[in-house]
Amino acid sequence: MCPDVSLPAADPTASIVRVVLDVPLDRWFDYVNPGLPVREGNRVVVPFAGRQLVGIVMALATESDVPEHKLKAVLQVFDDVPFDTATLKLLRFCADYYHYPFGQTVLASLPLRLRQIKPAVSRKMWVYQLAQPIPVDFVGKRQQVLSRLIALLQQHGECNEAMLAKTSASWRKAMQGLLDGGYVSRREVIATRPSMPASDLAPTLNDEQAHAVNAILDNLHGFQPWLLFGVTGSGKTEVYIRLLEKVLTEPQAQALIMVPEINLTPQLESRFRSRLSQFALVTLHSHLSESERLQNWQAAQSGTARIVIGTRLSIFTPMPHLKLMILDEEHDTSYKQQDGMRYHARDVALVRAKQANIPVVLGSATPSLESWYNAIGDRGQSGRAARKPSYRLLTLSRRAAAQAQLPRIFCIDTTHSPPEAGLTPQLKHAIELRLQRGEQSLLFINRRGYAPVLHCSACQWLADCRRCSAKAVLHLRQRVLRCHHCGDEQPIPVQCPSCGNPDLRPVGQATQRIEETLQQLFPQARVARVDRDTIQAKDALTELLSAVHAGKVDILIGTQMLAKGHDFANLTLVGVLDTDSALYSPDYRASERLFAQLMQVAGRAGRGDKPGEVLIQTAFPQHALFAALREQNYAAFADDLLQERIAMQFPPATYIAVMKAEATDYSLVERFLTDFSQAARQYVTEHAVTLVDQPLIYDPVRPGIARLNRMERGYVMLQSAHRGALQQLLQVAVEWSNAHPLQAKIRWIIDVDALEY
Ligand SMILES: [Zn+2]
Ligand SMILES: [Zn+2]
Repeated sequence: MCPDVSLPAADPTASIVRVVLDVPLDRWFDYVNPGLPVREGNRVVVPFAGRQLVGIVMALATESDVPEHKLKAVLQVFDDVPFDTATLKLLRFCADYYHYPFGQTVLASLPLRLRQIKPAVSRKMWVYQLAQPIPVDFVGKRQQVLSRLIALLQQHGECNEAMLAKTSASWRKAMQGLLDGGYVSRREVIATRPSMPASDLAPTLNDEQAHAVNAILDNLHGFQPWLLFGVTGSGKTEVYIRLLEKVLTEPQAQALIMVPEINLTPQLESRFRSRLSQFALVTLHSHLSESERLQNWQAAQSGTARIVIGTRLSIFTPMPHLKLMILDEEHDTSYKQQDGMRYHARDVALVRAKQANIPVVLGSATPSLESWYNAIGDRGQSGRAARKPSYRLLTLSRRAAAQAQLPRIFCIDTTHSPPEAGLTPQLKHAIELRLQRGEQSLLFINRRGYAPVLHCSACQWLADCRRCSAKAVLHLRQRVLRCHHCGDEQPIPVQCPSCGNPDLRPVGQATQRIEETLQQLFPQARVARVDRDTIQAKDALTELLSAVHAGKVDILIGTQMLAKGHDFANLTLVGVLDTDSALYSPDYRASERLFAQLMQVAGRAGRGDKPGEVLIQTAFPQHALFAALREQNYAAFADDLLQERIAMQFPPATYIAVMKAEATDYSLVERFLTDFSQAARQYVTEHAVTLVDQPLIYDPVRPGIARLNRMERGYVMLQSAHRGALQQLLQVAVEWSNAHPLQAKIRWIIDVDALEY
């Protein structure tokens, strides 16, 4: 490698390089520097256990605990420094809090290209800015291109080539004159995709929106979490845009916008691009190619990108001038990582905002109970869970568009009107009415495939997944039985494998079957289905949504994929088909999730000037959840639910962590977990005096999906009213588990603030 002249001279006495690697050992590794120009934060290539690995230099030292002759040498240094101190501090916090090896935390936060053994090269572009005042007589009367260039530079401070090219095709010649005269300077930055300004005007804010914007803008300097609680269609995005417009006027300032799912990025991205076209914007999500991801990541990390819109993984993107963070749909469970380090991007965002001393805005129509609790406190409750509000609450209670009203919500009692092929007569009639009026309908069923179960009526056999303790879902079109947990596919049996009966019947409803039913009922209607099976290609959803907007679809059938964020002006009916199983689920979070989902999907109706109607098919129309939903009173529902959680000492009134273990043989899992809970209890007893709170340790149990992908699973729940006490116990738990004799035969992980077991 050629030494880079801009590097500080390497300290000749610092012959030891201390690096972290992507290995499950929570420590630094020492290497000898054979005279390469190494800096802290550099990426290096080192030998490790017979392989070559990319590591990050954490420190340079003069001596090592390992005798020098046993140390291996650094093989290569890349001339890039992916991290700043602030990002490393955040990653350190996460590794500690989630009890995950630091090296893996650090390396996993990087785009793949930066984990590979090769230099990371992104495309560059020039940006121009005024270097000194331009004399009045410099611009002649007929030099229009030149004067337009100068006006642009004066307006924006810094302009990229795409912006300047809009003045004229011959802009380069005029610019050269400015450069030659020393009036303009230019520098090379990581290239970003240019945005186009919108032709439409910014809407006027209503009182509530204006209040929210002003409240946050008055408190920009310092850490403050805000909960922006706004009903569907209340114009949260417009609030975000106004905040960014203001925050980004500060030179170099950056903002991070997080969205739960990739499907939401195109819509939000195009709105942000058109309204904030003067600021370089990049997206970060899993649908980008590896080179795009590197490009966008480096644009953020170098400070070129002023706006980053990303999903969960973008929370760790280094942004040297971060001034504001926004998490849209903050209640969404996809913010929680379910493998590797089990972080929750919302919680990490809070920590990051605190460390950077900046505001963070959490937006939702149905906030998570965690955030709700933080925003309202426990309203006078006392006891060990007493808590004061730490977030500030901003409410948007009305739809932003003047004519748009919240939809009316009704329940259809399926005990009185039994559905036929999934549809009650009332719902069928409502769809027919929409077809006659030329309006659109949306049917929500959160189950993809043809039918959830394949059943033998002779012997009651049901088709199971071969690798999981779960039913295999019938996918008739693809002619397979597919497991939605592990992805395993098997052919549909021609006869019952148990008794030989050839008459196997699909039971229950799912998207494909409803689609078929609707096509039979309304042969003239144009029906479209949106679920993970139809929307696999990158642009499939965007294409389908534009077909809906263009009025080319009469009836939409979809899973929760459709529930979020999409705006359909001509959609006036939402039918909810089958959600009763979630009403009485053993998971205490099921009703919170169901409410959020139904509120979201109901929010799709009546976004334009026509009123919307929501029909929910249920056998339990008296359920409190539906009462709150009909009144669209999330606050009342959340308050009740919160009181219940406080009474039962469930999160968010307490904190939990789950030790999850799996092996091919459950007896091993059981032994490990039994030993674990005993050791944990013993620790709590022995340290009763020093622990702020004595965490509760439950007995080992099996999760709902007891066998997943041929692994037998079990878990132990730990619970405490104090985060600190729980963390203290977890620290010991990790050491204990690493030393357990079964450690090599078991896969275990600690899931802090677990949402799923
Ligand atoms: Zn049978
Ligand atoms: Zn399976």
